[in-house]
Amino acid sequence: MVKKVVIVGAGPSGVLLAHYLLRRGDQYQIDLYDRLSDPRVIEFSNARTYPISLTERGMNALGQIEGVEDAVRAISLEMSGTIFHQQNGKTRATSRKKPLVTLDRTNLVITLLELTEKYTDSRLKLHFNHSCTEVNFAAKTITFQTAAQTAEASPSLTVNYDLLIGADGARSVVRSHFLNPELLEVEQNYVSTDYKAVLLPRLDPSSHMHLEPGKIHSWRSDGMFVVLLHQFDGSMSGVILFPPQNNPVAALTTPEAVLQFFRDRFPEVGQRMTAAEAETFLKRSPSRILTTRCSRYHHGDSVLIIGDAAHSVSASIGQGCNAALEDVTIIDRLLDEFDDNWAVAIAQFTDRRKADAHALVELGDYAFPSSSKLFIEFVLREQLAKTLHQLFPDRVAPSLSELLFESSVSYAEILQSYKGWIAKVKKSNQQL
Ligand SMILES: Cc1cc2nc3c(=O)[nH]c(=O)nc-3n(C[C@H](O)[C@H](O)[C@H](O)COP(=O)(O)OP(=O)(O)OC[C@H]3O[C@@H](n4cnc5c(N)ncnc54)[C@H](O)[C@@H]3O)c2cc1C
Repeated sequence: MVKKVVIVGAGPSGVLLAHYLLRRGDQYQIDLYDRLSDPRVIEFSNARTYPISLTERGMNALGQIEGVEDAVRAISLEMSGTIFHQQNGKTRATSRKKPLVTLDRTNLVITLLELTEKYTDSRLKLHFNHSCTEVNFAAKTITFQTAAQTAEASPSLTVNYDLLIGADGARSVVRSHFLNPELLEVEQNYVSTDYKAVLLPRLDPSSHMHLEPGKIHSWRSDGMFVVLLHQFDGSMSGVILFPPQNNPVAALTTPEAVLQFFRDRFPEVGQRMTAAEAETFLKRSPSRILTTRCSRYHHGDSVLIIGDAAHSVSASIGQGCNAALEDVTIIDRLLDEFDDNWAVAIAQFTDRRKADAHALVELGDYAFPSSSKLFIEFVLREQLAKTLHQLFPDRVAPSLSELLFESSVSYAEILQSYKGWIAKVKKSNQQL
């Protein structure tokens, strides 16, 4: 019998899941809803997006769907290391054996959506400008508010589902309907830094101002961080992270002050920032990142949450999207294992994913220290672990960043290997 699947959220995890389910044959008829407009047709808004890095974890998940890896690589750049810029103008570089694949989050979603165009309406329907507002688990119905085209109140729409997937991000409405202590415990915390997007214009590669290509560029100053990545079109984009309270970014009130701030604190960024970008920067409101730990990801025999809805994590370890895409491969394997019996597969998803998802959030909070002193220790530990692992691969684990960025080792195992370091950073961060 054909199952009607409703996926809420056309982000990376929701759209990739649609691909995986459609690949399983015509037993699934999918309706994919998102509260925002179709990113394929609206003007690309840089203010709402940011670059992401995909590791082998995320790329493996994408690579299993025909045509996706090639399409993603065609709009990505590879980063083979990071350059840490110091305030005195000096730099320190780290390298990776396996490069990261970096691209814009919205462009990833657009590419995944474009590749669904081969499916007919009878198998996949996309509904943009539909915001999920209510779920009735008992009746298996879900209600959406559609975007108002006129001044009149926007109409709502209620549809039935056989299976419901909440891929609707850290502030998941689907998950909020689990909120009954018997059904789900959720712990959510704001990450200790807010962020704003930063964009630098395209420069001639021969210009002396061009920052080294193929590297992630990073700066630190008084609890603030800037991370910038070259983009496919020659521009650079990234974010500045800063504490939510008493921060100099909130005190900026004019474009001139923005330019001066970057020139003083992050000279290489300030020198390259245009007046137009300084003005736009001022208008962007700071965004907050939530971390999410849940006691379960399924409800009954028909509802599942995945990706950020299940385990949103600090952006600092660049794993949220990788983990969200990996969720999809786990569901696919469970459906293989249990012959598409969803009642069993989604309960197993909670059992098999929980330890990893909790470890992911812990690693996001504490893998990289806030204290400058501990950061130096981190860099030294990394170098030592890399050397020792090369000499004694059976006895010494790879470095923490190698495990995170260059492997698909489970997050629970990574946490176990580095629990001493994580405890140290946790203590230091709490003191700070
Ligand atoms: C600054 C920054 C940098 C990052 N860098 C990286 C990185 O380098 N590597 C990495 O792996 N991860 C990174 N991440 C994390 C990554 O972006 C997320 O983990 C990833 O996008 C999660 O995908 P998702 O599909 O689960 O959810 P989302 O991307 O959050 O998508 C959820 C979708 O649901 C829709 N939605 C929400 N509510 C509703 C509703 N009520 N009704 C209908 N639709 C709804 C939203 O519009 C959205 O399209 C970064 C995050 C940030 C903020």
